Order: sequence, then C-alpha cells, then structure tokens
Amino acid sequence: MGSGYKTDAPPLCYESINPPTLEQIAEEIRSCKNCSLCENRTNTAPGEGSSSPVVMVIGEGPGEEEDKQGRPFVGRAGQLLDKMLEAINLSRNNNCFIANVVKCRPPKNRDPYPEEVAACSHFLQSQISILRPKFILVVGRVAAQALLKTTEPINKLRGRFTVFNSIPLLVTYHPAALLRDENLKRPAWEDLKLLLSRIENL
Ligand code: URA
Repeated sequence: MGSGYKTDAPPLCYESINPPTLEQIAEEIRSCKNCSLCENRTNTAPGEGSSSPVVMVIGEGPGEEEDKQGRPFVGRAGQLLDKMLEAINLSRNNNCFIANVVKCRPPKNRDPYPEEVAACSHFLQSQISILRPKFILVVGRVAAQALLKTTEPINKLRGRFTVFNSIPLLVTYHPAALLRDENLKRPAWEDLKLLLSRIENL
C-alpha cells in the first residue's frame, strides 16, 4: 500500500502531449505531498531564473532561508553562489536558472533521503526538459550523486564534464563547502573557468 503521501493525479511530464510550463510545474510543486518533506515546509522552492538559460545550476535542497522565502539559494551559500556566477558573467537575472534536487527543506538541513529525491525527481527532469540549458552546473556531493546515480566522492566527480540527458554537465563544490573550507576555493575557481571556456566556445 502507499505511504499516504501520494496523490492519484499523475505527475506532469514533459513526455505528455501538452508539456507543462515552468509555472505549471511550480504550481504542482507547491501542492505536492509526494513525500514527508511536505509536512514541515513553510514554502517550496521550485527554482527561478532565465527561461532560456545558458547554465542551469542544480543544488541539493532548500535551507532555512530558502524555506522562508520560497526561493533557491538565497541564504549565505546562495550569496556566495551569486558571486561565483557573476565572476563568469552568469546571473539568475539574466542567463541562469537555479534549482534543487528536492524542492522542500529537509529537517535541520539533513541530506535528503533517496526516497525523497526519487519522489521529487520528475519535477527536476521536467524543468530540465523545458529549459534545455546549454550546460548544467551541479553544486555539491549530494546533488551530484543523486543526479549521476553514483556514490563516487565529490573530489572525483568535479572538474570534468560529463553528459546528462545530452547536456554537458559539470560538478563543482557546493558554496556552503567553500564557506567552511577556504582550500576548496581554488579548485572551485578552476571548475568555473572550465565552464566559462566551454561557454565561450559555444
Ligand atoms: N543549498 C542548496 O543546495 N540549495 C539551496 O537552495 C540553498 C542551499
């Protein structure tokens, strides 16, 4: 039997005859009860930014500030993310879309459980399918492992392009990790430069 969190309504999928719009996906996320993360949320953070992004940034999940505001990456780590993007001429106001693997805050900012990632994954897949970003930048181990379905450590995943749904994808450190460990700033900057060089070659 079901967990009690599922609704009978089929999820909106890009493969459907009438693909949903970004706003329809955001609406569905706002009323989603597919996993227990819905119980403690103040707001969902569906994602925001350009609707024809050069880069789609994908993080792990909303934190406290994101849960309050219903927007991704607006806390301290988000401010650093904005600076990192700005350093390579990217911004959520212009040419980036920012989203997370899960759209509701995990309690006490714990890592999302695999079943929570699975319950939310069709939203991210639909967003990627609609946005068709030129590149995907994944920040942090949790998002990278969830998307790439691997247990490889972040230091092995970062720093090189791979392909996801036919889109070039680069993994780098999460800005929160850079706030904790100064030593990660240099390799993260190398990753950003690699992304910039690929963008310039478009
Ligand atoms: N960390 C994330 O991974 N995502 C956010 O939106 C905020 C912090």
